Amino acid sequence: MVYDVIIIGAGPAGLSSGLYAARAKMKTLIIEKDKNGGQITGTDDVANYPGSIKDVTGPALVARMVEQCDAFGAERLKATVEKLELQNDIKKVHTDKGLYEAKSVILAMGAVPRKLGVPNEIALTGKGVSYCATCDADFFTGLEVYVIGGGDTALEEGLFITKFARKVTVIHRRDTFRAAKSIVEKAMKNPKMDFIYDSGIKEILGDGLVQGFVLENFKTGEVKTIMADENDGILGLFIFAGYLPETHLVNNLVHLDAMGYIQTDENMRTNIPGVFAAGDIRVKSLRQVVTATADGAIAAVQAEKYVDEHFGE
Ligand code: NAP
Repeated sequence: MVYDVIIIGAGPAGLSSGLYAARAKMKTLIIEKDKNGGQITGTDDVANYPGSIKDVTGPALVARMVEQCDAFGAERLKATVEKLELQNDIKKVHTDKGLYEAKSVILAMGAVPRKLGVPNEIALTGKGVSYCATCDADFFTGLEVYVIGGGDTALEEGLFITKFARKVTVIHRRDTFRAAKSIVEKAMKNPKMDFIYDSGIKEILGDGLVQGFVLENFKTGEVKTIMADENDGILGLFIFAGYLPETHLVNNLVHLDAMGYIQTDENMRTNIPGVFAAGDIRVKSLRQVVTATADGAIAAVQAEKYVDEHFGE
């Protein structure tokens, strides 16, 4: 069977595409390798998605998006896409569950957290090193936590972690924050938050659990070791150093910018006819749920138009 559209990725962009495509009566398949929702599932409070006023969690919002896709008849498959053949009229999507074919494809694979690339980071992930406050903050109830990064995510998630941790220290590599002024002001006012500027982690220390780290001050060159309190035995290191686009499947197929994001026009079209991109994976100025869902809607409407024009009777 050949689908009208295969959507790769079930974050807000992919789910919005699925909803619009299925509602337009396109034969729609959404493929996701992990859990639905992407990055938004790690957010406890989606405060700036229009209409989500009271305590809307990422997982709750995603659950409703999935329900809407299902209600309109989109099919969903949990599988890992291994290879894409996109050049011909019928696009081939090779997965660990078999080959799927479609007249159009929407790339909505999103982005993943950037690693610091320091010794022991991978080995101690899940053992004190985390990239998701909603997932892991409560493990650090009453303990000390260090947050790396100076963007909106670092400060917002740092604020969230203060609900659990004894103290949250933000370590930023510069002396001014990239985060929005309002968020910076809120963080500065929180008595549980502290800040270390112009500094970065050189190495994470610990045998089985994060017990400390080596910190370098980039301005003075001073290097010091910070260890967990003896009574605690562990500290938390939450890394929010931005995101990297998940474009490894398509980096030789569609045009990317220097940072690796997919280039599209305003109709979400890539350089390959019938191949669209939506959400955090594409070049854009604002990566939010609201812009991801808007991209998804446009991509689906354009995919429908493309399929009609190229395959219609
Ligand atoms: P971001 O804006 O790219 O910020 C990443 C931060 O990590 C920057 O402060 C950067 O430092 C630092 N960093 C990058 N690489 C590093 C490294 N190797 N070592 C140490 N620090 C490093 O990422 P984000 O905060 O995750 O935000 C991503 C997007 O989502 C943004 O567009 C943001 O506005 C949006 N967002 C919005 C909200 C909201 O509106 N409520 C909430 C969360 C995220 P430099 O500043 O020196 O580059």
